[in-house]
Amino acid sequence: MPRGPATIPVLRIGKHRDGRNPGVLIQAQDHAREWVPATTSLESAERLVHNYRSDRETKKIVDNTDIFFILSNNPDGANYSFYNFASQRRNMTNHCADDNADPARRNSWGVDLNRNYRVGSAHDGYSGGSNSCISDTYQGPEKLSEPESKNIIWLVEKYSNIKFMMSVHSNGGQLFWQPGAYIADGRITTPRPPLGDEAFYWQSAARILSQVKAHRQTVVTPENVGGSSDVLYSSAGNVREDLYYTYGIYAFGWEVGGSVYNPATGNWQGGSFQPAWVGNPDLVSGHSETMEYANGIMEMFRIAADWGKDHQKPTSQLVPGGGKYPGPVDVRFETSEPATIYYTTDGSRPTLDSPRYAATEFREPGRVFHVTETTTFHWFSVDSAGNIEQNYDPSKNDRRNNYRTATITIAQQ
Ligand SMILES: [Zn+2]
Repeated sequence: MPRGPATIPVLRIGKHRDGRNPGVLIQAQDHAREWVPATTSLESAERLVHNYRSDRETKKIVDNTDIFFILSNNPDGANYSFYNFASQRRNMTNHCADDNADPARRNSWGVDLNRNYRVGSAHDGYSGGSNSCISDTYQGPEKLSEPESKNIIWLVEKYSNIKFMMSVHSNGGQLFWQPGAYIADGRITTPRPPLGDEAFYWQSAARILSQVKAHRQTVVTPENVGGSSDVLYSSAGNVREDLYYTYGIYAFGWEVGGSVYNPATGNWQGGSFQPAWVGNPDLVSGHSETMEYANGIMEMFRIAADWGKDHQKPTSQLVPGGGKYPGPVDVRFETSEPATIYYTTDGSRPTLDSPRYAATEFREPGRVFHVTETTTFHWFSVDSAGNIEQNYDPSKNDRRNNYRTATITIAQQ
């Protein structure tokens, strides 16, 4: 095994690799000891090229998406995990000085690549990244100090059609998105995604998980789905926060290899970093996990393909609608599909700077307005693909003022 710097290859699969189709980045094995993420991603790539000619569903994916695979984003760490020290998590860069730099301590070095990014970073006070060069969550001496994380930023900036990302980890069976980090004092998370993005994430998650389940009935339970700082813990400086908040990329993460129920013993068998590849296909095995989670990745490609073809504008309504009411009334917005609503109640024109219709609490539906005096709502909705209701242009003062409007008239008592 050469000691020199490793080259990280990217596989790019798609009929049209010119930016016209939505890009999807699958990034695996940031953490060296997590072996199944690499085989899951390799299996997905294999299905695309192997089945292209024979399977119409596969052809549709390859024809309508532009897919980038990084099968191992930590090759030197991975080799070290394969051959020397199975528990290696970080890369192999030694940022330690003095005693800790002794080669005998090499199992303790390295940067946690999924703590090295710029948004929600421990450098800015977020929880879940360490300043210690021998911690398993060492964030690095500065943001983007590591070539492995710089590569990702370079890739999404060069290929700006990348709109979806999956950061593949193991193990636990969770599927998550933003927020993924918080400041411990007051538990202040990175901003919660607007309601439209949140709804799109949930809708996509349901599709992905139903495909995982199709393989051998593995169920990812509800408490394991959502914002990663809600379902898992705070991961300061993770890649997903950076790609979503900096570039607007829908950035999922998951922990492949959930618990599996063993009917013979009546117990749940937990996943592991390096499960046996073969074995009982109904229990924990690297092969079974690879097959079932590759199903989920394939569904993510279909989500991206559908997203790229979505030119349908959302519609929305105030419920109940405008009109005369004898007394105070509770109203809320509804949308025809996952969409974010921007609204005003002061008579002004709604723009992308207007208040966003939000949830009362996370995992809750949109808030209810308790209207006690006559109020006029102006609003428009935007779906996850950027389509705007009625083709309204919120950016400039177009004369049509083609936003939605409704007046709730409260009769004087
Ligand atoms: Zn991991």
